[in-house]
Amino acid sequence: MSSQHLHEADFTNTLVDELRGEVAPDARPRQVPGYTYSRINPTPVADPHLLAWSSDLGQLLGLAQPAERGPSVDVLAGNLVTGTMKPFAARYAGHQFGNWAGQLGDGRAISLGELKATDGSSWELQLKGAGPTPYSRRADGRAVLRSSIREFLCSEAMHYLGVPTTRALSLAGTGDVVVRDMFYDGNPKAEPGAIVCRVAPTFVRFGNFQMMVAAGELDNLRALADYVITHFYPELGTPSAEVYVKWYEEICRRTALMVAHWMSVGFVHGVMNTDNMSILGLTIDYGPYGWLEPYDLAWTPNTTDFGHRRYAFGQQPQVALWNLARLAEALALLIPDIEQLRPGLDLYRATFERTRQGILLKKLGLTPDSAEADSKLIQSLLDALATSEVDMTIFFRQLSHTAPALLAAPEQEQDRFQELLAAASYTPLPNPAHTPLLDWLHRYLPRLRQESSTPEAIKARMLAANPKYVLRNYIAQKAIEAAEKGDLTYLHTLLEVLKKPFDEQPEHEELAAKRPDWAWDMPGCATLSCSS
Ligand code: AMP
Ligand code: MG
Repeated sequence: MSSQHLHEADFTNTLVDELRGEVAPDARPRQVPGYTYSRINPTPVADPHLLAWSSDLGQLLGLAQPAERGPSVDVLAGNLVTGTMKPFAARYAGHQFGNWAGQLGDGRAISLGELKATDGSSWELQLKGAGPTPYSRRADGRAVLRSSIREFLCSEAMHYLGVPTTRALSLAGTGDVVVRDMFYDGNPKAEPGAIVCRVAPTFVRFGNFQMMVAAGELDNLRALADYVITHFYPELGTPSAEVYVKWYEEICRRTALMVAHWMSVGFVHGVMNTDNMSILGLTIDYGPYGWLEPYDLAWTPNTTDFGHRRYAFGQQPQVALWNLARLAEALALLIPDIEQLRPGLDLYRATFERTRQGILLKKLGLTPDSAEADSKLIQSLLDALATSEVDMTIFFRQLSHTAPALLAAPEQEQDRFQELLAAASYTPLPNPAHTPLLDWLHRYLPRLRQESSTPEAIKARMLAANPKYVLRNYIAQKAIEAAEKGDLTYLHTLLEVLKKPFDEQPEHEELAAKRPDWAWDMPGCATLSCSS
């Protein structure tokens, strides 16, 4: 099928057409009782120009890659609303850092409508940073280039890693400046503005349902639930009390899959508020996220969370469960008894454990054998990693080379394990902190020997489960600094490399390198504020 231009594409608008919304008279911040969304157009920017484009996603959507400037880029920057679009901002609420925050809503994201992909699937296009809406509260509706680059790159990187996520089609520069106090220290700075076009079947969050319940709008609650089930969970059948219960279980199951994937690639979302939880179990709202370098359960990149570490790496499975419980409280109004939702939470726990264990076995090149013995082996690895200060990604990647090679050459164990630690460790060798990990390696090899596959086959399996390239914090920061100076080469190279995270790409070895010393405490490399 030949591709079409975005500005000539036909949009549908199921959410707007099927649910109750208002036509916003203006973008003044206010409460919007009675409505699920506000119709509002993006606010035009000075000079829309394309900075990056996700060609695979463009192809899936049947879209031609636009030139740097022109009508399609005007769409991507919010300067052109075509005849079939019905742009809207959604009304939602949420718990932020455990506290009820009331109405939040799309304060800077505006959805344009949905496009049909070449495979028949339907995708909502949403512009983040497209200008004020009734939900902007005291903020400006805009986004800066640095946070937009981070969202654009990470959405795509996660997709290619096989982690459920919203996608990003484009990154557009606006030609406008946006003022941000990045360190919240009273030193605001003008930064270049940008807009990401995000893509997902829907951007509905847990918080959309919480909003309706908090406002006592049961008709809107039911209509939204029925909309989501009919369009995105059609296999569950016609909505009914029984179907709501099954639906909740499915949300729990998908959320468990998502978090299990996060834990296995070392992704820390950073702001797991209920308004940042997708009803489809997709990673959504890339803000002050980060990637584990040293494996550390207590690590969070989000400076706002340094006090409690509520959203630290090791907390994520528990926080997702807490968020699901808040969703249950909202959906309970649709069914006779909230107790009917309890099995969903049990399913979350079981799915998380099973999925995480399955992924870790794959990462270790093991086919499931004695479940109990294997889960002990896995737990002792995680315990050993937690105190060893080794780079998570490098450790598993190196192990994929080292372990299969040792199957035929056991006499090299000591030397090869030292090489492995030297490659992955952030501390000089020898370090007593490595002892548990070394002990574990000596227990793991005999278990690997029980595998019936050849060493080559095991290695291939492990390389396909342990990425070489993830979006390291300091590498994202380098792409940002270059782009802010007008050089997009690094950003484009990075996007291409991250499309094949499991491939050796010897010409891009430096993009897989351990975090250098200069990046340890650097803002953007190790710590991030919510300012975006
Ligand atoms: P986040 O922390 O990005 O998930 O955002 C929390 C809430 O603040 C959401 O309702 C956002 O729409 C809103 N928000 C964040 N940044 C801005 C901004 N620059 N302008 C308007 N609303 C914003
Ligand atoms: Mg958000």
